[in-house]
Amino acid sequence: MTRALKIIFFLIIILLPSLLAKEQRKLAKNILILNSYNYGMPWQQTVNEAINRFFDRTNIVLEIHLEYTGLAQMHTPGFKQNLVDLYTHKYRNDIDLVIVVDVPAANFVAQYRDKLPWKAPVVFISDKQDQDKILGIKNMVGVFSDVDIKATLDVALTLHPDTENIAVICGCSPVEQLYEKAAKEVLEKYRDHYSVINLTGLSMKTVLSRVKKLPPRTIVLYLLTIVDAEGKDFIPRKILSKISQNSTAPIYGLWDSLLGGGIVGGRVSCAEFDGVQAAEIAVKILKGEKVDKNVDGGQKFLFDMRQLKRWNINEKKLPKLSEIFYREKTLWDLYRFQIITISCLVIQFLFILQYVVRGKKANRLQKACDDLEVQVDKGTTELNELNKALETRCLECVEVKKREAAQVANKAKSQFLANMNHEIRTPMNAVIGVSELLSKTQLDEQQRKYTKILLDSSKHILYIINNILHLSKIESNQLNLETEVFKVEECLCEIFHMVSPEAQKKDLKINLDIDERIDFPVRGYVKPLKQVLINLASNAIKFTEHGSIQISVQLESCDDSYARLLFSVKDTGLGICEEDRQRIFDDFYQVQHQKDYKGTGLGLSICKKLVEIMKGKLGVRSDLGRGSEFFFDIEVFRAKDIVVSYDASHSDTGNFFQKHPLKILVAEDHETNRMVLTDTFSILGYEIDVVSNGQEAVNYAMSSEYDLIFVDIHMPIMDGFEATSCIRENFAPEHCPLIAGLTAEIFDEEDYLLKNGWDDLLYKPVTIEKLRDTLQRCYHKKTRRKTITTNHKLLNSQVVDRKVIAKIDKDYLDVKTQYFLNKVPEVIGQIENGLELKDIRKKVKELKKDFKDLGLRRFTQVCNEIHGDATSENVDYFVDSLKICYYWTSEELKSYLPTTDN
Ligand code: ADP
Repeated sequence: MTRALKIIFFLIIILLPSLLAKEQRKLAKNILILNSYNYGMPWQQTVNEAINRFFDRTNIVLEIHLEYTGLAQMHTPGFKQNLVDLYTHKYRNDIDLVIVVDVPAANFVAQYRDKLPWKAPVVFISDKQDQDKILGIKNMVGVFSDVDIKATLDVALTLHPDTENIAVICGCSPVEQLYEKAAKEVLEKYRDHYSVINLTGLSMKTVLSRVKKLPPRTIVLYLLTIVDAEGKDFIPRKILSKISQNSTAPIYGLWDSLLGGGIVGGRVSCAEFDGVQAAEIAVKILKGEKVDKNVDGGQKFLFDMRQLKRWNINEKKLPKLSEIFYREKTLWDLYRFQIITISCLVIQFLFILQYVVRGKKANRLQKACDDLEVQVDKGTTELNELNKALETRCLECVEVKKREAAQVANKAKSQFLANMNHEIRTPMNAVIGVSELLSKTQLDEQQRKYTKILLDSSKHILYIINNILHLSKIESNQLNLETEVFKVEECLCEIFHMVSPEAQKKDLKINLDIDERIDFPVRGYVKPLKQVLINLASNAIKFTEHGSIQISVQLESCDDSYARLLFSVKDTGLGICEEDRQRIFDDFYQVQHQKDYKGTGLGLSICKKLVEIMKGKLGVRSDLGRGSEFFFDIEVFRAKDIVVSYDASHSDTGNFFQKHPLKILVAEDHETNRMVLTDTFSILGYEIDVVSNGQEAVNYAMSSEYDLIFVDIHMPIMDGFEATSCIRENFAPEHCPLIAGLTAEIFDEEDYLLKNGWDDLLYKPVTIEKLRDTLQRCYHKKTRRKTITTNHKLLNSQVVDRKVIAKIDKDYLDVKTQYFLNKVPEVIGQIENGLELKDIRKKVKELKKDFKDLGLRRFTQVCNEIHGDATSENVDYFVDSLKICYYWTSEELKSYLPTTDN
């Protein structure tokens, strides 16, 4: 039992789908499509497809049966009966609707209506040409397709306006005969204008050969070629291709299914359209709707582009709404997909490329920018450098211009100074001299007071003038200072003694604080140093009312050769505020203290410059109301010993002449000064001769034996320079009196002495002290000269032996001269620095030996004298002698060398 159930269940499962399908089939509507032609007929194929497509779009379940009757070709009654039998056997009454395609099948169904097994409605697609056979038959409704021969001919003739012949091709089957008949009727109307070439009812062979020989200006109307005269059947479209290939005339046709087979086109019947219409009617019937009206088929102007081209037909001439098929496919048509794909790829590639290029460009741009930046930086740097160079050059130019202008101004200033010096100092000399002389005479108390005021005031004026001139000299670099060997302690003591009287007057205490380590003599600018210290100490006293003044010196640093000394002058006076401290060293700057102090405001400014000359710096520290401290450091050489050149005792004026007897002539043009000089000399015990110009001085010198002649520089008739050289010319050197310049100008003494042949200088205004010093020096010179009598001969003879020099090689002479120019000043410097006597002798001996072969007569002689006669007392004289000798010798040596000027 169970087993039997299982088998039944299994069978149900297996058979169910087929049972369901059968049921489905029962439910479906059976449609039979009867075709007129065999399989392969294009028109019929198109209609079938159109019907099927339409059915597919409906929701009716259909089972379609297709039959190709071949009735177009085979139309005998026997064949038709066979078909009836076949269909009766095959379909019985299972058909719900029959669709018949084209005239033969339609006529067959109409003819065998009662014999056929089904009673189903029939939808036909037939031809209007043969409508009589089916019109009015019950249950048969459909589409009457129609061909429009006239419209086709008309369009053909329009496109070929020169047409003379119309050829007509048509087969022999009953359907074809229908069309042939219709065509004949239409062509009747054209016969007046066109010849009709009849290619109907012929064998296909004949047709094909005939179309090859068609006369010009012929058009062909192709109807149908289903069966030819020989009974051969053809698929019209296929045979049409052959006909078209052979034809010498364009072929026009009547069915759309022929398009592409060789016709140019025409007003054609549309199979697709007819199929759709038939399917529509069928669906309506199947749905139970009543359809009893036949419809007409559709036509269109359709053309084949290839044929249009072949026959050179302009498509613009085609009727409106014409459709053209078989256009030559463009590349776009052929390769649309590929083109789109490639285009996309290309676009993508271009995007990428653009991106890359942009990137590269950006990189390049960036690089270019970087390069540009580097270039710009480089250019900027170069430009800056150029600018700097230009600026420097400009500054240099400005500097040069300034310097030139300054030089011119300096020269003018120097000239002005020289003039002022002379013009102011000369009368001042007179005033001071007279005042001093006056003070030495018998005076009552009041006269003494007045004389003192006169002397003080004139000294003050001179002090101011001196300051101004001094400052100008410093600024114009005309201050030729000489170093001297001195002891710092002694120097400070001197200052102490000089300023003490003033301090005492104000009850101020002066303290000296000297660093014990400074126990060695030094060589330095002692005069400026003293000047600075006196100025600072005087100021300290001047601006201090209570307390004390401290003058100190500390050893800042030292080695074997040099020492740096730090000087300071400190007071407990008024003090100087910050603002004044900033400007206190400026020229003519004076602090506005409550009390009125006399002054020029030049003292500190001169001090500052003098300290700078001594390679130091002057500074100030101060507390307003508490006092000030001025400090400066200077550089000095360390000297071994101090050379005391002469007795500096100035006390006894009366004995002076006895100690230093000299016969003196003075040449001075200024009358008052003459008087002052005469009296000043007389105070020291001298009776002098006085003349008022250079010429008189020369005359006097020639007529009388003087030991010493003072010549004023600026004199009428003959000035001091000329007078000096005249006197020198008239005397042998050993007999020539000593000649001293008398001047208010401050010169580089040594230079002036040498250049102007003077033995000494006396600066105006002449004071007793100054005169005493000068006379003392000159007396020493005179006595020394006597000890070196032989020297006089030499002075007048050749300095250098020319015969010896002439034999010396010039290069060698050059080298030797350079050595002489370096070596001798070095030795002079060493002697002046305090070389010991035995070392001096050694040095001059070496000098003599070094230059023996040059024939330096005078130099050798001086060296001999120093070696033999020099003592610690007269070494100064010998140094002077060596300097003068060096000067003349070097000048003469240089004159033997070839000139280096271009
Ligand atoms: P002068 O040559 O007229 O004496 P200085 O150049 O020496 O002038 O000084 C300039 C100014 O500095 C003075 O007017 C004075 O007021 C101020 N001065 C200088 N030294 C001192 C000091 N020790 N204490 C206060 N003031 C001072």
